[in-house]
Amino acid sequence: MLIVIALGGNALVKKGERGTLEEQRRNLKFALSQISELAKIHDLVITHGNGPQVGNIYLQQEIASKRVPPMPLDVCGAMSQGMIGYLIQQELANFLKESGLGKNVVTLLTRVLVDHNDPAFKNPTKPIGPYYSEVEAKRLIREKDWSMVYQAGKGWRRIVPSPSPQGIVEIDSIKALLLKNIIVICAGGGGIPVIRKNGKLVGVEAVIDKDLTSSLLAIELNADMLVILTDVEGAAIYYGTPRQYFLGNVTVSEIRKYLKAGYFPPGSMGPKVLACIRFVESTGKPAVIAKLEKVKDAIEGSAGTRIIPD
Ligand code: ADP
Ligand code: MG
Repeated sequence: MLIVIALGGNALVKKGERGTLEEQRRNLKFALSQISELAKIHDLVITHGNGPQVGNIYLQQEIASKRVPPMPLDVCGAMSQGMIGYLIQQELANFLKESGLGKNVVTLLTRVLVDHNDPAFKNPTKPIGPYYSEVEAKRLIREKDWSMVYQAGKGWRRIVPSPSPQGIVEIDSIKALLLKNIIVICAGGGGIPVIRKNGKLVGVEAVIDKDLTSSLLAIELNADMLVILTDVEGAAIYYGTPRQYFLGNVTVSEIRKYLKAGYFPPGSMGPKVLACIRFVESTGKPAVIAKLEKVKDAIEGSAGTRIIPD
């Protein structure tokens, strides 16, 4: 089977950690030891989040801006894909070598096409980077034309658009690598957002949801399964209340009802559920949301929330 696996933020940085290199390496080792087992049986494409990492890279640009020219968000996204991709590639390749499996792993910088008419560009929602004082915020709004919001008790923060992914620019390269039996790490952090301008692609300052991009990627690859790994057992109804229960097998139309009823908030479980719905509806294949530690069971069908066709 060809499986697209989306790694959640917790595969690299756990809650309460600062995200040191040692922490990220240790967390990844755990995740990848399981995934390397899967590589024996399946063809794999691995995507990942980049929230904390791109936030730090972006902060570094700001802090160092008097000495080193700062880079815009799309370039920071590319940096984070390189950094995280390298870490995954290194650990996974080491595991594969240990287990005698002669498979190569490649990280592919991935651009993702967005529509410049996407309503998200008129309504930025995704907070990124450091917190600023009101004086600084006003200056940044004036000088850099940034959109900023005040977050109670913390300060002012830049917000950027989160447009919906329209196409994976690198799709043919990804397919070519898969044909050569190579494990591909791509579309990190939802991909580097680009728009088409006068027939050319140009990067834009935005952030694409990594689950929605993973879904589009899985559809464009006609994958056999989309697996979204995170830090909870699956999608729950009444999450965080005493009545909470995790869904097991659920049909597309049933979970769509729950999504419409507001059980899965935007920015966390909502996009994961939507990503699965889109994949299942367009391919007729199953999608799973599961806890990272249970990736094998999730693929076999004994863990996680599995969204199946009606
Ligand atoms: P990731 O980095 O894996 O994308 P997110 O924090 O974006 O992680 O999404 C996972 C989180 O979604 C869980 O840690 C959980 O707190 C939250 N969540 C919100 N609503 C639900 C729900 N209905 N069922 C399960 N988890 C939920
Ligand atoms: Mg998320």
